[in-house]
Amino acid sequence: MKICKGVSASPGLVLGQVSRLERHVETFSTGPFDPERELRQLEDAVRTAQSELDSMAERAASTEQAILQFQSMMLDDEGMMNEVRFCIKAGISAAAAMDKVGQRYADQLANMKDNPYMQLRSVDILDATSRVINILGNRPRMWLALDHPVILAADRLMPTDLFSVPSGMILGVVTTEGSGQSHAAIIARAMNIPGIVQVGPEFLDDCDGRTVILDATKGECILDPDAAARQQAEARICELQRENEEMRVLGRQPGYTRDGAAFELLANCFGPEDIDTAMQSGARGVGLLRSSYMMLPGRILDEQEQFYFYSSCLAAAQGCPVTVRTFDFGADRTMADAYQGVQSSKLGLRGIRNSLRQPRQFETQICALLRAAHRGPLRVMFPMVTDVEDWDAAMRIVEHCRQSLRERGVPFNEKTPFGVMLSVPSACLTAEEFVAHGCDFLVIGTNDLTQYTHAADRELASAERYYRPASPAMKKLIAMVMEAAKAGNVPVTICGLAVGNPVNTVQYLQMGLRSFSVSPQNLLRTKKTLLEADAHPDDAELE
Ligand code: PEP
Ligand code: MG
Repeated sequence: MKICKGVSASPGLVLGQVSRLERHVETFSTGPFDPERELRQLEDAVRTAQSELDSMAERAASTEQAILQFQSMMLDDEGMMNEVRFCIKAGISAAAAMDKVGQRYADQLANMKDNPYMQLRSVDILDATSRVINILGNRPRMWLALDHPVILAADRLMPTDLFSVPSGMILGVVTTEGSGQSHAAIIARAMNIPGIVQVGPEFLDDCDGRTVILDATKGECILDPDAAARQQAEARICELQRENEEMRVLGRQPGYTRDGAAFELLANCFGPEDIDTAMQSGARGVGLLRSSYMMLPGRILDEQEQFYFYSSCLAAAQGCPVTVRTFDFGADRTMADAYQGVQSSKLGLRGIRNSLRQPRQFETQICALLRAAHRGPLRVMFPMVTDVEDWDAAMRIVEHCRQSLRERGVPFNEKTPFGVMLSVPSACLTAEEFVAHGCDFLVIGTNDLTQYTHAADRELASAERYYRPASPAMKKLIAMVMEAAKAGNVPVTICGLAVGNPVNTVQYLQMGLRSFSVSPQNLLRTKKTLLEADAHPDDAELE
């Protein structure tokens, strides 16, 4: 019995036999080649690769879909594919050209040290290009011939490796390199495949066919476990299966309160990865996507990169709505300091105020959002709106973006819904004006609304006793918003940490709210609270 330590990448516990993954090493012949023929073969191979990726996406769920879709889109990337064609015309084979350009693009992304989001995409480019290269070389893409479920061991995994065998055949994964942030790790989490990374290269030397207990939650595995260790692991595996089943049942239950009022449970997310977790916990969409967090210090993503990001979020939400909040940089946010300095303090030029000050940056974001909205139910909301003048100014820019997309001939959704995130009391007090000016929906952001209503810094522990999200003042503001929404017939969602607190959840429900957005980890608890609550307690007492 030998314990090997690694780093947890996807939690869980399994017992099984290890199968070591061997990879094909690519070599290319030197020609001569007929460029016309190579170009034709390239186009055919790309089409085949895309149809393989699309059909894998059809049977995949959320996060995996987003990743597969990203890979398929990369093969449409004009810049990259033109370079491949250029290399072919210069005399090299389609496979060698694809390899050369794919490597270069992947290296470029891998070197974006200031942008882990794009770094992660590097391996997707390698994965997609090696698919095309394998097609050109007539090699199988379903390379794993497994006849029983195994724990895969490899130096590192490619995102699509986990799809290359029928589901259920991979019990767990152990890699000698890699990180918990890699796409393969994200997919493993999404597919509930336990995995650890960084176990060290010597693990691969003599692991094939041996029995292992993979305790991925702890980040370790036990090679050749003795009878006592096996028995203990088997008992714990049964217990975990029971717990998971209970949670799954709750996630699938329809959203009705005890007295029959329908409710909608959404999630507050940062990107495709946690959207996936949220969807697995029964969320019906994303009520708040904090878009600022994809802009890691140093660089705002360009329109195309943002378009990929929002499209990936939509794919992860599996056809459910995603409400994206435009950038909400502020000095209290990690990203903000790097960009905006002290001007963007909590009472300064945060959120939409900052976007209106930087119209180019705002236009880039709006164009990317309008384009992504062509691919799925995406809604856009503006944060830190003070009054209807902010709304009008923001919507003028939206109209300008629509016009420029029309002129560019780029497909986008003309009818993308736009809304206001109500987190400033002055905006709640004048909610009907937004509705009158064409706002499609309202979202109450209790985190900041509490802070601004009570003049209590949400991060200051000493001010905590003044920070009361369910105070009479908050109730009055929320009631005014509800009234304006009802009169104008626009939907309202309430979000923020307070919504995950059962006492507040019930209070908001009884004030008429039916759409709640909470952090993914609070979804099931909030659902349980709502299922057991009465929306109209007075009626229940009368019966
Ligand atoms: C809010 O302000 O209520 C909110 C949910 O947004 P954030 O926590 O990102 O400020
Ligand atoms: Mg906020």
